[in-house]
Amino acid sequence: MFIEPTFGKSRQSEKKGHIEVICGSMFSGKTEELIRRLNRALIAKQKVEIFKPAVDKRYHELDVVSHNENAIRSTPVQFADDIILLAGNCEVVGIDEVQFFDDRIVNVANVLANSGKRVILAGLDMDFEGNPFDPMPQLLAIAEYVTKVHAICMKCGDLASYSYRLVEVKNKVVLGEKESYEARCRKCFFEGKGR
Ligand SMILES: [Zn+2]
Repeated sequence: MFIEPTFGKSRQSEKKGHIEVICGSMFSGKTEELIRRLNRALIAKQKVEIFKPAVDKRYHELDVVSHNENAIRSTPVQFADDIILLAGNCEVVGIDEVQFFDDRIVNVANVLANSGKRVILAGLDMDFEGNPFDPMPQLLAIAEYVTKVHAICMKCGDLASYSYRLVEVKNKVVLGEKESYEARCRKCFFEGKGR
């Protein structure tokens, strides 16, 4: 479980930003964890802004939506750099589905954190082939805090960290994930790939 670091101490005197990354496979609860952190900041009356890439149109345009329908209003953005302007003077910036941004997001995360903001990024760390999903590796490297959450393997019930694609499509991105993907453990993922 992620324990929030001591934001309170430096808040009064000097604003110190930092970067948190929440990563994992599909069905691992990344968005739920992002929402949990953002809700806690909102309860503390901190100014929170939430963004997601405009490419992700599976559910509502304006909401960061997790699969348990636990939604927070968010702003879809076309380019990572738009976030710097739109974040304004907020204290906490949440970004969901961060793997769909290009590598400009790495600089954006640094700029936001260096200006004193708490930056929380959630995204898939591996694609459906089990390869690192750029730009997540770069974001994991620059983050102060990294949380990897796990799903349950739909084959055997162990902890799962892979997103197994059930349909034959060439694209890296296939939306509508519930029908197209299974969370799988390492063993079941690679056994399935070797079919
Ligand atoms: Zn398994």
